[in-house]
Amino acid sequence: MRANCWYGKTVVSVEDVPDPQILNQQDAIVKITSTAICGSDLHLYNGFVPTMQRGDILGHEFMGEVVEVGRQVRNLQVGDRVVVPFPIACGKCFFCKDQMFSLCENSNPNAWMAEKMFGHAPAGIFGYSHMTGGYAGGQAEYARVPFADVGPIKVPNHLSDEQVLFLSDIFPTGYMGAEMCNIKPGDTIAIWGCGPVGQFSIRSAFLLGAERVIAIDEVPERLRMAEEGGAETINYREQNVYEALMDKTGGRGPDSCIDDVGMEAHGPAVIFAYDRIKQAMMSETDRPHALREAIMCCRNGGTISVIGVYGGFIDKFPIGSVMNRALTIKTGQAHVQRYMRPLLEMIENGDIDPSFVITHRMSLDDAPRAYDMFKKKEDNCIKVVLKPDWKNGAGAKDDNDTVIH
Ligand SMILES: [Zn+2]
Ligand SMILES: [Zn+2]
Repeated sequence: MRANCWYGKTVVSVEDVPDPQILNQQDAIVKITSTAICGSDLHLYNGFVPTMQRGDILGHEFMGEVVEVGRQVRNLQVGDRVVVPFPIACGKCFFCKDQMFSLCENSNPNAWMAEKMFGHAPAGIFGYSHMTGGYAGGQAEYARVPFADVGPIKVPNHLSDEQVLFLSDIFPTGYMGAEMCNIKPGDTIAIWGCGPVGQFSIRSAFLLGAERVIAIDEVPERLRMAEEGGAETINYREQNVYEALMDKTGGRGPDSCIDDVGMEAHGPAVIFAYDRIKQAMMSETDRPHALREAIMCCRNGGTISVIGVYGGFIDKFPIGSVMNRALTIKTGQAHVQRYMRPLLEMIENGDIDPSFVITHRMSLDDAPRAYDMFKKKEDNCIKVVLKPDWKNGAGAKDDNDTVIH
């Protein structure tokens, strides 16, 4: 089969690799019809995630058709159309029983690697380094899906791939980012980062009852999409974020702040240059500019929701601000399995159509160009969907799509 493989910093290549096979009787093989590139794939692409190996197949946002199942798979049959969640979870361990699927104790065969870095290991994740299991990802024609009875959700045929694909990650992730804010009527939520996850946090915050959402970014087309979702916006290249937020909230600060940026934050301040130098020298693995700013801006007693991805250690963490002002920090990789069904119902009810976030559709063979374009934010690129069955260089299928040649 064809698959998009990682070969080092900013090098990916679509290659012929062996087809996946059932290795365990709880596995299913899925023929992929749509797969997406995630902001967190850029952390791998940019070389910030340790334990990647040359030839690793990328991708953790995918869906398709079940073409083979192991003997112990009960809930799925060949021919079912499914979306696959990015964390791999057994459904039976201490954490899975408590619906904390991204902490599954049975799905990460390389737990020892993560224990060295984190103290304890998180669940396995598709296409996301050997520290999270070394599983082959879904930017490919086929994928092996372990614990197939637990993760994949069947989707009805009247919904298109593009409407349901993001149940695999960015919709539940953005939603959990908003849910962790424990939103009450009248709340104002500030959101750092208007990438795809930030866009879903904006819409989820409103779905959960926020009165106002204030979104912070620098990329004009992302800010425009945030405004289309009902948010007020702050361009941090043009305005001082702290002052703008105090102006908008009567000097008190937002009730909750969501960090939808993660470890590669950009920012205008001197502290950004400091973080970049330290990150480049490997003395700090993550650049936490957005997180620091979110903490300083949040109102007393408010909540900081960290859903952007961090990988290691940060510097100059304002713990004094957190402690003295009684802030609560909540965080985690999304427990996607917990959210898929209720969010699918919202899509079916017409409360939200997640396809709004897609700016580019390309063939799987175009993955190297798609990564480059996404990294550089060229051609107003916000979210790319890759189609394994499109011919290389294929572009639009209708007038609304962006044509790529
Ligand atoms: Zn993702
Ligand atoms: Zn488990």
